[in-house]
Amino acid sequence: ELASRVRVFNGDGATKDGREVQLLANVGDAAGARTAAEAGAMGVGLFRTEFCFLDQPDEPTIEAQVEAYTGVLEAFPGKKVVVRTLDAGADKPLPFLTDATEANPALGVRAYRTTRRDPDVLDHQLEALAKAEAATQAKVWVMAPMISTAEEAKAFTEQARSYGLATAGMMIEVPSAALMADKLFEHAEFASVGTNDLTQYVMAADRLLSSLADLSTAWQPAVLRLIQQACQGAEPKGRPVGVCGEAAADPALATVLVGLGVASLSMTARALPDVDAVLKSVTFEECQELARIAVDSPTAEDAREAVRSKLPILEELG
Ligand code: PEP
Ligand code: MG
Repeated sequence: ELASRVRVFNGDGATKDGREVQLLANVGDAAGARTAAEAGAMGVGLFRTEFCFLDQPDEPTIEAQVEAYTGVLEAFPGKKVVVRTLDAGADKPLPFLTDATEANPALGVRAYRTTRRDPDVLDHQLEALAKAEAATQAKVWVMAPMISTAEEAKAFTEQARSYGLATAGMMIEVPSAALMADKLFEHAEFASVGTNDLTQYVMAADRLLSSLADLSTAWQPAVLRLIQQACQGAEPKGRPVGVCGEAAADPALATVLVGLGVASLSMTARALPDVDAVLKSVTFEECQELARIAVDSPTAEDAREAVRSKLPILEELG
């Protein structure tokens, strides 16, 4: 009976003492967006637009893009939808945008970097996105993947605003972006931390290699220290920082992220009830203490064990 009670999610993410934490969904298409809305997601924290076009040899037309984006935005009237511009390359090649012959695609001309070679593709996407926003009631927050420098954050956010997309931000998934966050937030109005790639790059461990799974976890204190630095860089200007990588779906890690100052967590819709239940079992001050413990742990395993031992509700979730 308890198990079924804690799995209900009403779209009201918060800690026990009422500090709001937006619980959002990661989606890749309109069907996923509708499922997420039914599951109670408060909005979308990551719309992976490249998922709409993975099998296409040519750049989709603006009309085709408007249709794809509108389908997702329509599922969240009045709600925030964080739309990521095309994250092409490495594990997600797009034939019309990435070069399959690169020796190290994870370190190559991928994601926002493709604008060096094909600037028009981002222009077309921003135009389509502005049209989709105008056709729906959703609030679009647009962000670029793999932003690495303040110049890139400035160029992207200015370009997005020139299309009337008022809320422009960035992903933080390259260690340089976390280290330089205070400078990047001069331009970006918000950020979402992609823990999958941030972990890959700070640990120098291919995210697709299961043999390196012990390195490829956001419980690594090195990863948590970078997220802490990103949050500290956002603080002077009051910019919201979210997390949209797999880490956000780990209920114990979610408490640590909230303690570090993360304002929203975006995850696969089915993870929402458990993350919500665990957050509701702790105060914000307790989250801050859990964050201190994790960041000061010598190893990922120590961090995970220490935090989990202080969250008795985890046993009820099974
Ligand atoms: C990430 O890198 O954590 C992320 C959310 O983006 P993706 O998994 O699509 O690279
Ligand atoms: Mg990524």
